[in-house]
Amino acid sequence: MQGWPGRLGEWLLSARAEQLLRCLPAAPARSGTKPILGAWASYDRSVPAELRGVPGIRRDRAAEDEAYERAPLRDFHTDHGPAITWILRQHWHVLAPRLPRMTRVALAERATACVTPTATADPIDAAELTAAFRRHAAAIGLSAVGVARYDPRYHFVDYHGQEKGDRVVVGFVEQSWEAVQEAPSALSERATFEAFTKVHELMTNLARWLHACGYAAAAEAGDAHGIVIHYAVEAGLGQLGQNGQLLTPQAGSRCRPTLLTTNAPLEFDSPRDFGVTRICEACQVCVQRCPTGAIPARRWMTRGVEKAKINVSRCLPVMGQAYGCAICMKVCPVQRYGLAAVTEEFERTGRILGKGTDELEGYVWPIDGRRYGSREKPPIPPGFTRPPELRFDPPKYFKPSEADVSPSAPVHGHSG
Ligand code: SF4
Ligand code: SF4
Repeated sequence: MQGWPGRLGEWLLSARAEQLLRCLPAAPARSGTKPILGAWASYDRSVPAELRGVPGIRRDRAAEDEAYERAPLRDFHTDHGPAITWILRQHWHVLAPRLPRMTRVALAERATACVTPTATADPIDAAELTAAFRRHAAAIGLSAVGVARYDPRYHFVDYHGQEKGDRVVVGFVEQSWEAVQEAPSALSERATFEAFTKVHELMTNLARWLHACGYAAAAEAGDAHGIVIHYAVEAGLGQLGQNGQLLTPQAGSRCRPTLLTTNAPLEFDSPRDFGVTRICEACQVCVQRCPTGAIPARRWMTRGVEKAKINVSRCLPVMGQAYGCAICMKVCPVQRYGLAAVTEEFERTGRILGKGTDELEGYVWPIDGRRYGSREKPPIPPGFTRPPELRFDPPKYFKPSEADVSPSAPVHGHSG
């Protein structure tokens, strides 16, 4: 977006605007964009034999160490700030009404890192503390929380040393179901910002609760200081989907997460197998529906972890020009129907619930305003994936082969 809207958008995102934004009133949430607050029911459904995989994610520990030694992870915002700014500038009219509240919560989060609890923590049983912590998280409206070990390999090197202890708490807030079914759109983008702001507010509240108990805790501002998906998988909150996002059994990736670090002796959770990897092998809907083919059909080992590495060069331009896109979230059956219903259907019929239907796979493409059903995709004109104002150099470790990015690459498991 060029001209005065672009310049206004850029200024709104600058540090100079922060002092003004923090004093402005918050805009009320638009109808249909409010997050769904309240703790999710626990997911206890057993995984059928044909869907079983490993708990969490398949790893090669030596390769993880080697990748960390060779090239520690850095904050995407540090290396690709201009690309992020370009994306946000495209959405400045969606973002601007939310910036005062987002600015206030970011400042409050940063302040949690400066608190030295004065109260001495009474000796307390870890199980008792953890139960009280979870009760508080549920009472304030978080959808889920989990506890994992701090791991420097998965915290960005930019923030090493700022952690407050050896525990990382992952928290989620569920996004509006109705709004996400409208993605890509201004409505779904607003719902994303609403849930984003809410989860950061609630995690700030959790950090303060830990301070009051006598422990150090720091809520992480922005997009968190580490790989949220890693910690969420380690905390047993979900598994990595083919779309590169964390799929929770309750809402798929239709939720916003963030992290806090603490020295409170909370009990650790552990990775779980929900059967997501095999469901994805049979499903592949996001692979087929991504307008620019940014999602590979297969997973491979990247930095010691088995994942489908999204082609960021093909994804970022769409996110910028199509309201954050999120088609890969919208068309995911786990997001729409929940994992229990998807698993039941698969067990009963060997099919993926909703696959091939316009209800699940259809979307309105904001560039031309047309609805594309399950058998058609929007035309992508030459240059769409290379807008001249977008400056982005892909990370050096991202080297997909043609087979990796081709939707026709072979997959394993049932066909839906
Ligand atoms: S956000 Fe859109 S462009 Fe990016 S991977 Fe998902 S569907 Fe593809
Ligand atoms: S759309 Fe299908 S393949 Fe993609 S993440 Fe969801 S379940 Fe997995």
